[in-house]
Amino acid sequence: MIGIHDLRVRFDSDKGLVDAVQGVNIDVKPGEFYTLLGPSGCGKTTTLRCLAGLETPTGGRITIGDTVVHDTKRGLTIPTHKRDIGMVFQSYAIWPHLTVFENVAFPLREARPKVPEAQIEARVGKALELVQLGGYESRPAPFLSGGQQQRLALARAIVREASVVLFDEPLSNLDAKLRAETRLELRHLVKRLGMTALYVTHDQTEALTMADRVAVMRDGRIVQEATPTEIYKRPNSRFVASFIGQCNFADGTVTAAARGAEPGLIDTAWGPVRFDAAADAATGAKVTIAVRPENVRLVANGTDGAADVPQGEVIDTVFLGESVECRVRLGNSDLVARIHPDQPVEEGKAIGVMIRPKDVAILST
Ligand code: ATP
Repeated sequence: MIGIHDLRVRFDSDKGLVDAVQGVNIDVKPGEFYTLLGPSGCGKTTTLRCLAGLETPTGGRITIGDTVVHDTKRGLTIPTHKRDIGMVFQSYAIWPHLTVFENVAFPLREARPKVPEAQIEARVGKALELVQLGGYESRPAPFLSGGQQQRLALARAIVREASVVLFDEPLSNLDAKLRAETRLELRHLVKRLGMTALYVTHDQTEALTMADRVAVMRDGRIVQEATPTEIYKRPNSRFVASFIGQCNFADGTVTAAARGAEPGLIDTAWGPVRFDAAADAATGAKVTIAVRPENVRLVANGTDGAADVPQGEVIDTVFLGESVECRVRLGNSDLVARIHPDQPVEEGKAIGVMIRPKDVAILST
């Protein structure tokens, strides 16, 4: 539905030339919710703006549905208003002097050929019902709450009944609780309408909870593209692993490769760590491994299966409400375990440290 091929954007700014986007390739399927995730300045907004026609690429080709909307080589660019898209921005871009109804009607009034008044009324009414703003038609837009303004912006994006909707950090002005509620509402609505979504955010929770697929960007490039589960469980680099949640890292040498059901072995500062065949690493390779704190199990001596588990020492514990974070010294290095608050652990005491082979990710960079 959305095709971005070898997209490049170079800005000539007061600080010299900036290569904001450096060869991005994206293929979003019809009905897919696709998220671009990355730190500030990685090029995600510029990519989205190129798709919207608000920025002119230095190179590459963009298609929306069957239409080529930009092709640098052919010198072809279709203007924003002729692209089959709706947009929602961080600032909402709501017209303060207009009512709720007129804000949503705006894109239809601008459309050519003209949309008949009766149709405008029906379509605005439907869009407002969908975002649960029915009954607010005559209210001036600034008199809505933050959450309602966000929904108004969404109504305006869907009223054109475009196949693609673009989101640029649309929830960042909402408080934490409303943001969490709106995340799922927004995803459900997009899915219900059968729209294809490209969503830009720097918030990993937003990306993981909303997206069908996530692309992590760094320095103008996509460094990993996968489902949220895959990105979280199998990050391919230290950058992705630490950008998405917390992680323990250790460098090591592979002493045995994994073969079928037989786990492989890596010699690390924590001691030998086993990994499964999903992590591809050859004997003798120097690698970095990543293990999430919730996958480090602490088992008390004397409990079942604790006999041959490597022993560590609890250095300190931090109570976080729903969990406790324990820093444990294992071998010649430390690692963090996140455990249930009911599990008894004592600082300074020995404890078994269990890491399952399937929870070990091997990073390429
Ligand atoms: P943020 O989340 O902070 O918006 P981003 O990942 O969306 O970050 P972009 O806004 O795409 O990043 O910016 C990518 C790079 O391009 C940055 O270094 C930025 O300073 C630069 N840049 C963006 N727009 C322009 C412009 N119009 N002129 C010059 N440089 C620009």
